[in-house]
Amino acid sequence: MKTIITGDRPTGKLHLGHYFGSLQNRVKLQYDYDTFILIADVQALTDNYDNPEKVRNNVKELALDYLAAGIDPEHSHIYIQSLIPEVAELTVYYSNLVSVARLYRNPTTKHEVGQKTHLFGNDGESITYGFLGYPVSQAADITALDGDIVPVGEDQLPHIEQTREIVRKFNNIYGETLKEPEAVLSSNPRIKGLDGEDKMSKSLGNCIYLSDSEETITKQVMSAVTDPNKIKKDDPANPDICMVYYYHKLIENPNIETVCKECKAGKRGCVSCKKELSKAIYEYLKPMQERRKYYEQHPEEVEKILKDGTQAARQRAKNVMKRVRKSMKLDYFD
Ligand code: SF4
Repeated sequence: MKTIITGDRPTGKLHLGHYFGSLQNRVKLQYDYDTFILIADVQALTDNYDNPEKVRNNVKELALDYLAAGIDPEHSHIYIQSLIPEVAELTVYYSNLVSVARLYRNPTTKHEVGQKTHLFGNDGESITYGFLGYPVSQAADITALDGDIVPVGEDQLPHIEQTREIVRKFNNIYGETLKEPEAVLSSNPRIKGLDGEDKMSKSLGNCIYLSDSEETITKQVMSAVTDPNKIKKDDPANPDICMVYYYHKLIENPNIETVCKECKAGKRGCVSCKKELSKAIYEYLKPMQERRKYYEQHPEEVEKILKDGTQAARQRAKNVMKRVRKSMKLDYFD
């Protein structure tokens, strides 16, 4: 069975963008692959090093969201990055194989550096060594567990390419040791926000969280962008430029053809269309919210799942590091 490595930074609760962008796919794949899901707390600290409490709390929230969404601990290992010291060791070895110029050339890093310098001034003082090097530690995350496949969104593709370069360089210098992973683009790489922005994101406030109440969902859906040319209830409209229709499609509303026909014919008001969508999203999320509630009431089960997952990941990393140290002539007392 091939190994999938995937995961998230624990920086907040997960929303529909995460679910349709990657989680739904992970839930499906976990039955066909050996699945390792990383809670990247070390990576979260690159931006939140001064707020460890926030990262710690979000580790729990993220684990709950995973389990709620259908990640099955019988089929997937959920593990905590900081508890795998082998990854930190491998990051150090990899750091000799990547130039600073190459890190700056990574288009995703470049974009993020641009954002940071824009926000905090232009002198680069806000760019830490940890931030710049995080694609290197990501390479260590993937290869320390002999990952074959990494399901990613488009913005992560450059990071996986960087991982592959590091592996090739390592194998070239020290001999064939590491596996070169493959990136697989998820079928819904980027989910639009309710406001029509290209990405659903916490900072833009255009999200519906997996754990949102019916009331919050309705409030958010009511703010969604529709066809601006539809002024009156019986004006015909174009559903293809309406975010409400986009979400009806996303959650596979069985009534979708009627929504489309009635919208085009001016036989559907936006308010009732939004109410229908809110209800449908709530029903869609209900089984997840019930699972979440169960795990919230059984924290000892969540802790055991995380411990077992971390132990499984660590065992793998230890095996890989044995090979790495041998290849690098660092196996002094083995
Ligand atoms: Fe969008 Fe529905 Fe209004 Fe049509 S009727 S524009 S699909 S909200």
